[in-house]
Parts: sequence; C-alpha cells; structure tokens
Amino acid sequence: MAASVPVEKTIYLGAFAHCVALAELEIVEKGAIGVDEHGVIGFIEKEVDVEDVRKRHEGWNDAKVVSVKDGFFFPGFIDTHTHAPQHPNTGLFGKTTLLDWLDKYTFPMESSFSSLDKASRIYTNFVSRTLSHGTTTCAYYATRHVEATNLLADICLARGQRALVGRVCMDTLSPEYYRDESVESAVRDSKACIDYVRSIDAEGSIVRPIITPRFAPSCTAPCLAGLGKLAHEADAFVQTHVSENTSEIALVEELFPDSKSYTHVYDEASLLTPKTILAHAIHLSTEERKLVKERGSKISHCPASNTALTSGCCPVRELLDEGITIGLGTDVSGGFSPSILEEARHAIWTSRFVAMGTPAAAASSLNNAAKLSTAEALYLATRGGAAVVGLEDKVGGFEVGKEFDAQMIRLGSVPEEGDKEGVFGEDGAGGPVDLFGFESAEEKLEKWMYSGDDRNCVAVWVRGRLVHKTTRYTA
Ligand SMILES: [Zn+2]
Repeated sequence: MAASVPVEKTIYLGAFAHCVALAELEIVEKGAIGVDEHGVIGFIEKEVDVEDVRKRHEGWNDAKVVSVKDGFFFPGFIDTHTHAPQHPNTGLFGKTTLLDWLDKYTFPMESSFSSLDKASRIYTNFVSRTLSHGTTTCAYYATRHVEATNLLADICLARGQRALVGRVCMDTLSPEYYRDESVESAVRDSKACIDYVRSIDAEGSIVRPIITPRFAPSCTAPCLAGLGKLAHEADAFVQTHVSENTSEIALVEELFPDSKSYTHVYDEASLLTPKTILAHAIHLSTEERKLVKERGSKISHCPASNTALTSGCCPVRELLDEGITIGLGTDVSGGFSPSILEEARHAIWTSRFVAMGTPAAAASSLNNAAKLSTAEALYLATRGGAAVVGLEDKVGGFEVGKEFDAQMIRLGSVPEEGDKEGVFGEDGAGGPVDLFGFESAEEKLEKWMYSGDDRNCVAVWVRGRLVHKTTRYTA
C-alpha cells in the first residue's frame, strides 16, 4: 500500500513555486527542499548553490536527491468537491440544467454502485485519474451505498491519496430505486461509513469521513437534523451543495417554507460548522453570506460545472473580500474535467465573465476588480483548498514543518532546429507547453497555467511518498 511504504529522506532540487498569500506567488529558480522520513519538510533553501546542499545540513549526507529539469515543483492540488461515481458520465450533460441533469444522468449511474465490481473499477480509475492531474487531496462524494463508499476509502488509502470520503444521504425527492429508506437508516448508514473510515485510518492522516447530505431538496428536515446531530457527535466534516441554480433555490423555498433561506435550512439543522464545505454558493444573498462567514463554513467554487449546467457565475471576489474561505472543486460530472489546473483556468474565465457583466455593459463598464489573477487562482487551488478541508497547517505550500504534498511539473524544451516529423520535446513527450529557452521563470509558470495539462505532471508525492509517476519522471 502506497500509504504504508517507508519514506526515504530526500532532497528535492531545482525550481519550485508556490503561493505565499492570495495574490502572491513565490518562484525560486534554484531551490532545495529537504523532506524527512515522516514526509515533513525539514529545510528549504532558496537561490543558493545547491551542489553541496547535503553537506550543509547535518544528518542529510545520505539523503536521496530528486532533481527537476525544464520545470518546477509545485504543491499538490486540492479538489474540494467532486463525485467519484459520476466519473463515467464526464462530458455527458447535453443541454440539461441541474434538476433534469440529476434525473437523466446522475441517479441512474449512481444507483448502479450497488455492484461492488463496478464500483471498484470506476473508483480505482478515478483515483488514478485525479492523481495523474496532481490532485493530492480530494473531497469525494460516493453514493448512498455503504460498502461501495467504504471501498472508495480503501482505494484512496491504498493509493496514498488524501481524501474525505462521504456516503451520500437522500431520503426524499429522489427516484424510488435510489434513496435512503428512512431517516434512521440514513443516519445509521452514514455512521457506519464514519466508523469504517476511522477504523482503517485512526489518525485520519490520509482518509477521513465526511457527512454528505446530497442537497436540501433530496433530504427531509428530520434527515438533515439527524445528520447535523451526527456531525456534532462524531466531530466530522460535512459537505453539501447550496444555491447552485435558481430553480433549485425556488424548490428549496417551496419545500422549506418556514426557513429564511437555503443557507438557513442547513443552519437550522446544525449543519453549518467550521468543518462544512458548501459547493457552488453562486446566488447567496448578503444575509446568507454573513451566516456562512459567522459559522466559519467554507465554500467550494466549481466554475466549470457552473458554466456547463448554466448555473451562474459565482462572484468569487466578493466572497473573498468578505473573508470567506474558498477552494476549487471539479464537481465531476457537472464539471467535465478531473483537473484542478483546468478548474483554476475556469475560475479565471468566470471572474472575467463577472467583470464583463452583460455583453452590452462590457465595453463601457468593465469591473476589473472582479478579475482573478493567475496567483489568486493557483492560491485557491492549493492553500485555499487546504483551508477548506482543514489541512492548512499541513499542506498547500512549501514551508518547514509542513508535509510534502507536491507535483513535479516538466515543460517541453524545443530543440534549436524546432521539432521534426511531429515529434515534440527532446524525449518525445513535452506536453502541450513549449519552452524556447528565453522565457523568465514567471513566464514558464504562466504558460503552464494557461496551456498545461496532465502530460506536464510527471510525478506526484503525498507526505513524501511517490504516489504517481509517468515515463518522463527521472529522479
Ligand atoms: Zn456536486
């Protein structure tokens, strides 16, 4: 099991980049990051002669060295919201919006996870797929099946990917063939998954449980209240959806006429805690945002999904200015890519749509303040996400004392004569980013941000353990 393989004391040499604050990206061209046997960063050197770095640090003489060429080390990505069982539906959404999309694509697929063989095949593939995109931590929705949900936790632990794994609860307004039978069974099954996940990783260093009411429309008030009680008793994380689509908001108003708002429905069930992740949060009122802030709950911004299902453009700048903690979520398969790098690009595009407002207004009244920068989008993808999943002290950036969750990014180096016969890159697999040798360190990072993909992510580590590598990885 990847999570139990011993870690070798290692020094990672070469360029590295990470976000040190929301709008501040640090790029170190000649760096050294020493990672100990516990996967913890013991020292960091910046812009120094790295040749004799081992001699300068007592006890590091025999350390292994991993160097990066034509690229840099970057913190692992954190996906704060995705649905593992919907992976086979990736790219399938047609012209649906949220509520008909659920009926047409989602419920039929999720209900088939009563088959453990099917669950095993799809979950194994999805964990491989997210790791290959540099995702070192993932908040997963599973299905309502206890055994298949526990299997997803087993797979994450075996592969060494940090995960929050949640059994989906839904006791109403879902098809008869796919819903919890009663409030009691919904709470009991959720507790069974919490107990199982804690039994395989008592310290929660790799996998942790998360209570997962699908969203308010598919849970009765007693079910939500039962889950809120469980969240407090078990001191567990909670994830759900809020304020994604205007028809959904109208439905919540109809189903919960005594609640002040969609967000208040969750608050009345004691489900808004500092350990709660709310996906989407596109159309929140000022009062709802205040409530989220007061409760210390976090938001997962899923722009690719929000555009695919025409749900809306989340005003991320306003949420950030109000001090709400935000990370990015791929929301597969509302979202059509398992890549957080892709999601960071979509976060930037969405912020530009917000800036442009209506097409007629765009030319005359561009709201520049709404636009997210490269640094800001990458911050949400790493440190922001870490804070959403409660790991801000452990991962998200390179600092002494933090654990080494990282990806090695390599870019394509174009030879003097260009490329011949359609073979790109010196070793034939440069990925989609071509370097000509005259780019600054900042330009290399920008080029990766806007045109890179999983071909550039050649190796991935979680707590110092190698959990994914491609043929372009040479230690
Ligand atoms: Zn979702």
